[in-house]
Amino acid sequence: MIKKICVNHAVTYEYPPDGGTIPIIDPYDGCSVGCPYCFQLEDENWNLDLKVKLNIAEVLQQEVSSWSKTEPVYIGSRCDPYMGIERKYELTRKCLMEIHKLNLKCMLTTKSGSRLIFRDLDIIQAMGDQFTLLLGLSNLNQLTKVDDMSVLGNIQTANELHRIGIQVWVFITPVLPGITDVDAMIHALDDDIQVFLDKVRIKPGTRPALALESYIGRRYPHLVTTYHDIIYNGRDIYYESMKEKWSKHKRIRFVFE
Ligand code: SF4
Repeated sequence: MIKKICVNHAVTYEYPPDGGTIPIIDPYDGCSVGCPYCFQLEDENWNLDLKVKLNIAEVLQQEVSSWSKTEPVYIGSRCDPYMGIERKYELTRKCLMEIHKLNLKCMLTTKSGSRLIFRDLDIIQAMGDQFTLLLGLSNLNQLTKVDDMSVLGNIQTANELHRIGIQVWVFITPVLPGITDVDAMIHALDDDIQVFLDKVRIKPGTRPALALESYIGRRYPHLVTTYHDIIYNGRDIYYESMKEKWSKHKRIRFVFE
């Protein structure tokens, strides 16, 4: 159910394993993309409702007015900022406008494939180097519909935006053996787009583990053993082979390796 709420704070913080602190702006809380491996699923209260933070842009304006111009703020962690509901509420657009007014550095994560980002090109192009799009390719809704990676929606988006000068980093996170064809994806992307990869990192028995196992059982039954091995034995033969093949290439980075 969609719930409209007002917030007191626009920025929340995440603390990754490397000891850093990441300031996050989530215009919504909850996500309609439905990735079965999503780490947010560990929170059993997440996504019960899709919360729309009606006043987030106004709160953000006050909260980040003296923010450092060099420390990036991130948009999107507990939501995909360009999921379908953004078409109606335009909260991501409003947050981008505030960030642009203050000339802050911003990294926006999306994999929804909605192409709504093209609506906001007027702001994003004006932000120049202060804006980076972190575009995820492990969108199972897209991946189950095409075999040819050159027509995968998010790869086309990455190339189109890159060609008009938007800074785009592409993420194959997680690499999904038997589903994400890493070689074909890298070859379908423009040569100078930076690509980041990571393996499935899911703790056995957790809600994401159960969701991913159940999804694979329904959609890719021939891969059940492969994913059982990854989740329960930490054995990911495909990922290791990709690491071996690509880790010496300058534009390819393996996150956390
Ligand atoms: S798009 Fe992101 S937040 Fe939404 S379900 Fe997928 S991984 Fe989770």
